[in-house]
Amino acid sequence: MTAHDPSMARGGWMRWFGFGGSARDAFDDVSRVDPPDEDAPEPDADQRRRLRTLGEITQFLMQHDLPVSPFTLEVAHDIVTGTNPPLSGLVARQVADGRPVTSSWLDDVVHGQTEEENGAEQIHALILRLEGTVEAFSVTASMARNATNDYNSALKAHVDGLVAIDTASTDGHGDMIEQLTALAGDMLSRTRKVARELSRSERETRTLQKQLADARAEAEIDHLTGLPNRRAFETRYGEEYVATRENREPLCVAFCDIDEFKRINDKHGHDAGDRVLRTVAQSLATISDEQCHVARHGGEEFVVLLRNKLIDEACAVIDEAREAIAARRLINRATDVPFGQITLSAGVADVHAYRDAHEALRAADDALLRAKESGRNLALKANLPDCPAD
Ligand code: GH3
Ligand code: MG
Ligand code: MG
Repeated sequence: MTAHDPSMARGGWMRWFGFGGSARDAFDDVSRVDPPDEDAPEPDADQRRRLRTLGEITQFLMQHDLPVSPFTLEVAHDIVTGTNPPLSGLVARQVADGRPVTSSWLDDVVHGQTEEENGAEQIHALILRLEGTVEAFSVTASMARNATNDYNSALKAHVDGLVAIDTASTDGHGDMIEQLTALAGDMLSRTRKVARELSRSERETRTLQKQLADARAEAEIDHLTGLPNRRAFETRYGEEYVATRENREPLCVAFCDIDEFKRINDKHGHDAGDRVLRTVAQSLATISDEQCHVARHGGEEFVVLLRNKLIDEACAVIDEAREAIAARRLINRATDVPFGQITLSAGVADVHAYRDAHEALRAADDALLRAKESGRNLALKANLPDCPAD
């Protein structure tokens, strides 16, 4: 039985879980399912949502004839809940191209993706920890230098006072006063040395802080295109989401994907494909400004955040960029063979129409898929959610 079986449609799953009909209506070959309890209380909205997710996970596994394992369950969960839009996109593409979604294919895709991401994640976490430690040290060093300076001033006043004492009139204590004067002078020169060392430490700390900030910025750049990478986008998206929600400003997000890019690689080679990616990135980057952020999301996918634009205005910006790219006639400079028309498809969502930033991104990705299915070289608005956000 596959998910294409009408009995596996969502209604069927709900019945199988005991809502609105007998389990056997939906699943003839399930012999150990208890009949639904007529007196059982109606499930609340949250329970219904969880049951639906569970049904969709099972449906995904059955549809692709996947074994039930912690790995496939986790992947299915990420796909049906939209937790991992790039993975959902890859699976959708695999299906659209008529290729099977097998465990080993999922393993390659997920682990290829996560190993690379884990490395970058660890470096980023290390930079953040180092920045925290250096900042703490810098505060301590600055406090210590201030305390040392105060101590130096007090000591200097004592030394000056001791020097001013006329040892001839000190009732035979002149030797002791001279010793004290020498001792205090020695302490003063030592603490001055400490103060100089602390100043040097502070200067070095500032250099280290600058280097760490540069390293963090470096970790947020995509080196092929020079655009901000997915990490930078995610941080920015979170910040813009909070800020625009607080200020009740519009925010739109667009997923853009180069059409049939694989054919460029296949025909012209990977290096030429890289050059096309860079050219498209540069072209897209021309729309970025204070209110518009363009990033490479991964592969041949880009993401654009448009602040202060209503959905129609955002679509117009993306359309303009899309048309500018489609109007270019690129030639492979290594072979003089034209690349042909390079186009991209996009899905655009009005972020605050959805329950959260994540759902908006998923809606933009769904719209991108529809644009692909509708013939490509097209930007489509995302469908609005069934239950709009307040
Ligand atoms: P669609 O119109 O459906 O998006 O088709 P597509 O061929 O663009 O999509 P598909 O997902 O089948 O292939 C994307 C290709 O992009 C496959 C991958 O090798 C290529 N790609 C991803 N990242 C890079 C990169 O950094 N450099 C190059 N040269 N190719 C890349
Ligand atoms: Mg793609
Ligand atoms: Mg593509």
